[in-house]
Amino acid sequence: MSSIIQLLPDHVANQIAAGEVVQRPASVVKELLENAIDAGASDIKLICKEAGKVLVQVIDNGKGMSVTDARLCFERHATSKIRQAEDLFDLHTKGFRGEALASIAAIAHVEMKTKQDQEELGTHIIIEGSKFVSQDVAVLPKGTSFLVKNLFFNIPARRNFLKSDIVELRHIIDEFQRVALAHHNIHFTFYHNGSELFNLPQSNARQRIVNIFSGKTNEKLVPIQETTDIVSIQGFIGKPEFAKKNKGEQFFFVNDRFIKSGYLHHAIMNAYEGLLRDGSQPSYFLYLNVPPHTIDINIHPTKTEIKFDDEQALYAILRSAAKHSLGQFNVAPVLDFERDFNLDTPYSYQNKEAETPTIQVDSNFNPFQEEKKQSNFSYKPKTENLPHWESLYVGLDTKSMDIGEMSFESETVTSSLFSDSEVEKAPTKTYQIHKKYIVNPIKSGMLIIDQQRAHQRILYEQFLTNITIHQANSQQLLFPITLYFSGNEIALIQVIQQSLESTGFVFEAINKDSIVISGLPVTVSESEASIVLEQLVSDLQDEVPDSSFSQMDSMAKSMARSLAVKTGTYLTEEAQVNLVNNLFACKEATVSPFNKTTFITLSVEDLDKKFSI
Ligand code: ADP
Ligand code: MG
Repeated sequence: MSSIIQLLPDHVANQIAAGEVVQRPASVVKELLENAIDAGASDIKLICKEAGKVLVQVIDNGKGMSVTDARLCFERHATSKIRQAEDLFDLHTKGFRGEALASIAAIAHVEMKTKQDQEELGTHIIIEGSKFVSQDVAVLPKGTSFLVKNLFFNIPARRNFLKSDIVELRHIIDEFQRVALAHHNIHFTFYHNGSELFNLPQSNARQRIVNIFSGKTNEKLVPIQETTDIVSIQGFIGKPEFAKKNKGEQFFFVNDRFIKSGYLHHAIMNAYEGLLRDGSQPSYFLYLNVPPHTIDINIHPTKTEIKFDDEQALYAILRSAAKHSLGQFNVAPVLDFERDFNLDTPYSYQNKEAETPTIQVDSNFNPFQEEKKQSNFSYKPKTENLPHWESLYVGLDTKSMDIGEMSFESETVTSSLFSDSEVEKAPTKTYQIHKKYIVNPIKSGMLIIDQQRAHQRILYEQFLTNITIHQANSQQLLFPITLYFSGNEIALIQVIQQSLESTGFVFEAINKDSIVISGLPVTVSESEASIVLEQLVSDLQDEVPDSSFSQMDSMAKSMARSLAVKTGTYLTEEAQVNLVNNLFACKEATVSPFNKTTFITLSVEDLDKKFSI
């Protein structure tokens, strides 16, 4: 039989290897940034267009390459970073596998310009799908510039597999931040579609964190430091009260390389035991240094998972360092049961009678007043939703609690119940109990409505309608308001800008660390603007939804959550009635946007049963 095995041509082998190294534009960003760092650059610029799908460019002022190296660097397994197998166990560079550039050149259009400091002229190479197109001598500044265009141009399946720009940009920002956090002594700038997203000057580790995650981060962190023979730990961990429900800011760096480790994460969570609200996640920025020969980085092509020689010892040291740091900075609550509580009260007050606090309630206060002014927030239930109502609201008139002689069950009478004047009069008496529930008698018994969830439902549907039909009303602000955000929060706001505008936000400017708003959705008051946007950014930080519809859905949910009247808020009777009316005008009155029950009914039979003994 004839033999059938062949060696794959290089360009095919490179394409296959590329599958491992380059999953998405963010992988290119990571590889190019790491090469620039390995080249000793002190200034690195990242430029992307359309979330890296159209262009990723990295410009560095590092050591550059000779003419020969410039040609060789695109070969597979071509590296200047290791020479022999033993070097794998004493790594001081980010790269060492020599496959990134070969992989990238196999699946994109690449243009490289590079010049070494001591040389007069540099080299300019164009390579497309592993084929050298041109090589010229050129006048260039010191360093290297890689321009990667049309990623996956020759693998349509991979290109189609890419997510929306929002998602891909998020991945790029993640990679950029990881590299920038690990190298605070390098100046990084990042431009996306022509606007500057980050400009991070050389600084210390803490300033770098603050520059990336906003000034507010500073007060939320406590330092951590520990040096032992097997590891030295430095960095910052978040005070427990600032722990968040999403996992955003958790970083481990080992020898300046970002790594993922469920095991080390567990060590940190263990140190926080008893200090966190259920399910909340602390921030941490931990820089570990270990002797290079005690780790194996070569277990994963993207090098984000590594193997430690003595993982258990590392776990113990990390946990105790974190505990120590939380204790030292007095963030752990001290539960001292032996304390004499009398000492807590100043002596002269000790035997004083407690005064009953007087509470002044403004009976005219109506939390729904704002909404009442809006034309698009009608108190009149929409007629198409009447079927929801009928069964619940049969016989609701205050004067006609005894409805023996009046039947509301017929169509005609029911609809007259909802005429403007009838609704104005309010269908029935409502009661608020515990500033939480609205109780409403109905013919068959009573309704008990959760005020917060009900209001969330109302606002959610209202926002969603406004956003999807682009009919949102804006209120123009007399004086534009400026809100401050961190670089990556701004980047996020930019990607959802259009959806935000369709809810009624008007942006006058979006700057590097602030936004200027000149118009707000009618449902959002000036004082609520920052709360709504901050909540929104934090809700979307983990994963910005892919499709624009689910993006709008997430926004409507987030805004409904921020703006809904909370448990513990007193509602006037008018507000209560409006709430009930608006709830039953909703398409899905029974559940909140977060799938929680908005109301329950208690029938007369239920009550009878309870009284049967
Ligand atoms: P690796 O980084 O694993 O060595 P790469 O394919 O990423 O492999 O790069 C191949 C080689 O090209 C590197 O070893 C390095 O010598 C050279 N190189 C790549 N990028 C740069 C750069 N920005 N500046 C100088 N040399 C570079
Ligand atoms: Mg590399």
